[in-house]
Formats: sequence, structure tokens, C-alpha cells
Amino acid sequence: DGPGERSETGVPPDEVRGRVALRFGARSLTYGGLAGAAGALAGRLAGAGRVAVWATPELETAVAVTGVLLAGAAAVPLNPKSGEKELAHIVSDSAPTLVLAAPGAELPDALGALERLDVDADARAAVPEQTAGDAAPALIVYTSGTTGPPKGAVLPRRALATTLDALADAWQWTAADVLVHGLPLFHVHGLVLGTLGPLRRGGGVRHLGRFSTEGVARELTAGATMLFGVPTMYHRIAEALPDDPELAEALGRARLLVSGSAALPVHDHERIAAATGRRVIERYGMTETLMNTSVRADGEARAGTVGVPLPGVELRLVEEDGTPITAYDGESVGEIQVRGANLFTEYLNRPEATAAAFTADGFFRTGDMAVREPDGYVRIVGRKATDLIKSGGYKIGAGEIENALLEHPGVREAAVTGEPDADLGERIVAWIVPADPQAPPAAPELADHVARRLAPHKRPRVVRYLDALPRNDMGKIMKRALADV
Ligand code: ATP
Ligand code: MG
Repeated sequence: DGPGERSETGVPPDEVRGRVALRFGARSLTYGGLAGAAGALAGRLAGAGRVAVWATPELETAVAVTGVLLAGAAAVPLNPKSGEKELAHIVSDSAPTLVLAAPGAELPDALGALERLDVDADARAAVPEQTAGDAAPALIVYTSGTTGPPKGAVLPRRALATTLDALADAWQWTAADVLVHGLPLFHVHGLVLGTLGPLRRGGGVRHLGRFSTEGVARELTAGATMLFGVPTMYHRIAEALPDDPELAEALGRARLLVSGSAALPVHDHERIAAATGRRVIERYGMTETLMNTSVRADGEARAGTVGVPLPGVELRLVEEDGTPITAYDGESVGEIQVRGANLFTEYLNRPEATAAAFTADGFFRTGDMAVREPDGYVRIVGRKATDLIKSGGYKIGAGEIENALLEHPGVREAAVTGEPDADLGERIVAWIVPADPQAPPAAPELADHVARRLAPHKRPRVVRYLDALPRNDMGKIMKRALADV
């Protein structure tokens, strides 16, 4: 597939030029148009270094990032929904030379001191020569801030190419694929996988602007082949399916349904499988590592697992004292550590955090805990910092308790945390959004439900009821905010 070549030369081969690369609502660009618009932008960015991109879900954002990459510069995508304080932090931390935005986009005060350049999607010029090597930074992406303030991960050009080619192998991803995209464009999922991914393959992107189950059904019915989503999207799909035969038929037709950014609840996975005949496959990645594992398109999609290491990714599980776990027994829990060309090079301006993140032999400590099943599938148990509860001498993963709670008909959303307990060390706390706020399931009933499904020591000792769980704009549950609600 020629487009891989395009990303090196910047010029799409003839057979690709006329094909639609990107469509955002009623606006679209062919490969030829994108090369022209991004080439024109790249021509204006010579020597720009770091360039901020006001990453609204619009055509201009895709052109902006492509233009920055073609110029050999590094893009710093900004979340337009960030508060002034976070934006001010990112701008002072990353020190971009200018900010790219769609014409007419209003920029907040925090960006006031930056020179602004409007992206012209109708401009056409040849792609300039550039000499950035594999190790040059391509993107500086800030982590989601789930466990602390966002950190800027510096991603070299080779990491993007490596991860996208590994996914192409795992997903049998080709120029014939058209992606339905409803994700924001300032994180790895929506930008690297959802935008640069299809462009590298020579396929198409249909961006919904804003995710909706109607949009998904429409695009899949019109011939799109893949859907990438976060678990909150698949939850909405699972909820809509019983009353929406068109959606079920459209999903049944898709070649690939992929979930990532957080664990997909088993309950949603199973409901979607039952209604559509399709199993959502999960992949596991991070801002710092891009993609590490995935269920393969030709593999078995199993609820609650993230599949196997991608080609080129070395993955090991390690005990607290650094001993690698060699058993594939589905039980021995260790931290996931990874090594490969998919990794970031550093946290911007944080040499100490960077040094602490790597082992002496160059593996990145993900902070995610997992087991390996007998056939090698990785099953994530949760994050070391927030999801591993040490209670009564046991180490208990929050995820399986959350999955069990979500199977209770009276539970709409669930999060599990640990809090200090004089007897147990930590006690298990369940945060519940009831399906019916007028009739929330009682705490003893939920404790019994979990004890019967899992084990008595995994039952929540405390149940707290909420109207909604605190989530960030990727739909991730912000467990550190739960303590404050
Ligand atoms: P921060 O690092 O700022 O606290 P974050 O870790 O949420 O935020 P990201 O880099 O966007 O920022 O997310 C990576 C994390 O998301 C992983 O470390 C893992 O905990 C989680 N994750 C991603 N995909 C999956 C998945 N398929 N299943 C379970 N967890 C996942
Ligand atoms: Mg993280």
C-alpha cells in the first residue's frame, strides 16, 4: 500500500490522489487536496520547532497536524475544552512558537501571547523538502491527567510509524478501510490512531464532529468498515441497541469494532455481542507508549482482555521487587513494562519523572497491573496507583468488582476504590450511579451480588450513591476526584 511511502515523500502516489482522505461533516479533502493544503502549511512552518494546534474536531486540525509533520516540526495538540489554567500550563511548558487554528476559531486568553496562524484547507502547494530524522519529535501529547497533572510526552516520528504499522498488521488494516471517528483530536486515540492511522494506510476517515449512535449507524450503513471508540461510546451503543435494529445491523456489518483508552466493561461487551453478533476488540496503549497490545483481527475477541503484544513490542509483567513473572497462569499479577520503538523519548521538562519511568534495562513502567492467561492474552487488573486494593491480606483489582456490579440491573455506572480501614488495611468502596435514582439497590444486596459472583472478600464494605461519576473528556473515570465528591 503506497501511502506509507507518501508519509516519507509527502506526495501521494497517483492512484491515491483522488480518493477521499478526510470527511468532517459536509467538508472533505482528497489525498491530493490534503497533500496540497498540508504542503502549503508546511511551507510556512519551515524552522518552526514546536507548533501548538487548537485541536477542534474539524478538517483544519487534521490539515494542521499533517502540515506540521510534513514540515519536520512537532505538533502540540491543545484540548479546546481545557480550562485557562491547564492551557496556560501546557503553553508555558511546551513553549510553542505559534498556534494553528481553524479560521474563525476563538482562542482563549491563555493563548493570547502566541502568534496565530489560520489553517487554510483550500490552499494548494507542493510539499517542501524536510530532513527530520526518525528520532525527531513529531508530537508532544499531554497525558489525560487521570492520576495527576498532565505530563507532556515527547513522541518521536519513529514511534508513530512503528505503532501504526504494528496495528495494520494486527488489524489487517488496509487502504480499503474507512473509519467512523467520533473522538476528540488532542489525544493519541483520536489523533494518532483515528486520523494519522487511516492516512498512513490510504483509507478514509469519516469524522462525526460529535459522537452519536445515529452517526455510527449512518456511516457504517454507508460503507465505513471500522469504528474506534472509548468505553463510554460502547456503553451508549449497548444501551441503544435493544430499541435500534438499524444500529444493530450496521454494527453487524462492520469489519472491526475497536475499544480503548480505558477498560471496556464486560457487561457492555456481552450486550453488544448478543445484539449484533460482533465482538468489540480491545487494544491497550498509553500516551507515552502509543499502542502496546491488541486482540488481533484474526484472533479470538474475549471480553475483559486486551489481547497480545503488538509486533515489535516487548512486554513483561514484573513483581514489586523487580522479579519478572514468567507464569501464564491467569493469576500472578505484575506491573506491565514495555520496550520498543513505539515508546516516547521523555516527559518534556521533567528529567526526574522520565528517569523514574524507565528501568535500568530500558523498559517503561506503565503503572498498569495485569495477568497473562495461558494463551498469552493480557488481562489488565487496573492501575497500581488507584485500582489495586490491599484488603485483609489480599490484593484485589477494582476492575473485576466494577464488572460484577455493572451486571446488577439496578446499577448504571460503578467505580471501586479502596480507603483506609483499621482492621482490613483498606476497605472496598463502591461508588454507584443507580439505574433508577428513586430505587437504588441497597448496599447489602450489592455486597451479596459481588460475593456470589466473585468471592466474599471482594464484596464492597461501603456503597456510596452518586448522580454521575467524575469523568474526563475521554470518558475516563477520575478516581482521584471521587474522594472529593
Ligand atoms: P495520566 O497519566 O495523566 O494519569 P492517563 O494515564 O489516563 O492519565 P493516558 O495516557 O491517556 O493518560 O491513558 C493511558 C492509560 O489508560 C493506561 O495506562 C491504562 O491505565 C488505560 N488504558 C488504556 N487502554 C486501556 C484498556 N484497553 N483497558 C484498560 N485500561 C486501558
Ligand atoms: Mg498515565
